[in-house]
Amino acid sequence: ISMMDTDWAGQKIYYFDEIDSTNTCAKQLGEQGASHGTLIVAEEQSAGRGRRGRTWESPAGSSIYMSILLRPEIPPVNAPMLTLAMGLSAAEGLQEYTSLDIQIKWPNDIILNRKKLAGILTEMSTEMDCINYVIIGTGINVNMKQLPAELAKKATSLRLETGRIMRRSEIIALIMKKFEKNYQLFMENGDLRRLQEEYNNLLITREKEVRIIESQEEYDAYALGINEKGELLVRESDGTTKAISSGEISVRGI
Ligand code: ATP
Repeated sequence: ISMMDTDWAGQKIYYFDEIDSTNTCAKQLGEQGASHGTLIVAEEQSAGRGRRGRTWESPAGSSIYMSILLRPEIPPVNAPMLTLAMGLSAAEGLQEYTSLDIQIKWPNDIILNRKKLAGILTEMSTEMDCINYVIIGTGINVNMKQLPAELAKKATSLRLETGRIMRRSEIIALIMKKFEKNYQLFMENGDLRRLQEEYNNLLITREKEVRIIESQEEYDAYALGINEKGELLVRESDGTTKAISSGEISVRGI
């Protein structure tokens, strides 16, 4: 990836033809002391992961599977905000590269034409209540001509939507550039206040009815946008506003 125009994000890259999971590899590198900003990129994942033990379909040669290793000096409870910073960076990078109307489904999905184009998975390691490292994995469906049958209705690729083949290296470089900027804005305050407006502008469920699915209950609410902590503010039917954190729920309704 020759056009990487960053100070630290993706300055060191490990590239694999095939790997189990770029997040798992990043963890191993994190344990071995790899530096902040180290990027792992693979052509194919044999065991790509999503949240809660789900699978990320990762066929060969046509998509982006990457994980960045970070060593932020922030409280571990704030690490989920980095998922949102990466989501915003991926959406901005993809939008700049394709000129398409890319949107974000809080907290961790990138959406194109109401279908899932990309997903983000954040994992971390702590030691004595401090972050040792954070891994942010991003999977983006770029040049796939078709998707596994079970995903065909709800997911898509850039190629399926545009008929064009895209240069993955350029997309990665753009996303790293955006991420470096957004990470800095995040670190200045230790929260998302400087990214909130841009994030909310891309939020697909902004000012829309959504169905909130928590572990114990399900209900309809009106999504307002994220706050500086990255929580989704929703107005419930009785008029009260509630902030939900990404750990708790799944939002349906796009
Ligand atoms: P949801 O968005 O359905 O609430 P989630 O955000 O928890 O789920 P993720 O962890 O982001 O889901 O991703 C895993 C899910 O994404 C899988 O269960 C599958 O439905 C879907 N998926 C798997 N592989 C791909 C892919 N290559 N492209 C798009 N979607 C995928």
